[in-house]
This record gives sequence, structure tokens and C-alpha cells, in this order.
Amino acid sequence: MANNRPGRGLKFCPETNDLLYPRENKELRKLEYYCKNCDYVEDSDRREWCVYISETTFSSKDKTIIVHDVIADPTLPRTKDVNCPNCHHNEAVFISESTEKGMTLYFNCVACRYRWKDYI
Ligand SMILES: [Zn+2]
Ligand SMILES: [Zn+2]
Repeated sequence: MANNRPGRGLKFCPETNDLLYPRENKELRKLEYYCKNCDYVEDSDRREWCVYISETTFSSKDKTIIVHDVIADPTLPRTKDVNCPNCHHNEAVFISESTEKGMTLYFNCVACRYRWKDYI
């Protein structure tokens, strides 16, 4: 069975073989993947990222985010580098969409489900 094949968009640490998590690097204005169990960090390929997001999160017709699925979906990227404006929880599900001006990040707080946007 090919059950252990990573899904599209998932990356694994070459050092410890753990799933890499995306986070935003505000200083460099880009996305990167980091390992929770070692110091490994990898640049995110912006194009690949966008394909992944557009296929899994947005329907072609309607570009609104499906909130309940987003939070429940374990395959979606999460970040623990945020501060929810509503409840100050530090973990949120993390979605990005590229626009003409750059990238828009949509956060969904996993604690209170508050949604907010950021730009990189
Ligand atoms: Zn690692
Ligand atoms: Zn919150």
C-alpha cells in the first residue's frame, strides 16, 4: 500500500523525519517550514504552496474559507507563532492566498475560532 506517501504539500524533516510545519517569516516576508523536533528550517516554495492551498481550501467558484473544515482538518498547516486578537491563544490554522500585492494569510484561532487576516 502507498499509505505512507506524504500528501501534496506536506514536507518532512530530512534530519528527524518529522512533519514540517509552515510559519510566516515576517522579517523576510515569506513562508518557511520548520521542524518541531530539531532546528531544521526550509524555505517554502511559494508556487507549490499556492497550488496546494487552492486545491484543498478554495472551490473554484467561491473563494470563501470553509471555517469548520479548516479547523478540523489535520492536514492543514498550523502555526504556534501567532497571538489571537480575540483570546490571545497562540495556535491557529493557517491559510494563504497570493494576490497581486503579495500574500494574504488567513488565520483561524483553534481555541475560539476567531478569524483574522495578515499580509506578507
Ligand atoms: Zn527535524
Ligand atoms: Zn482565539
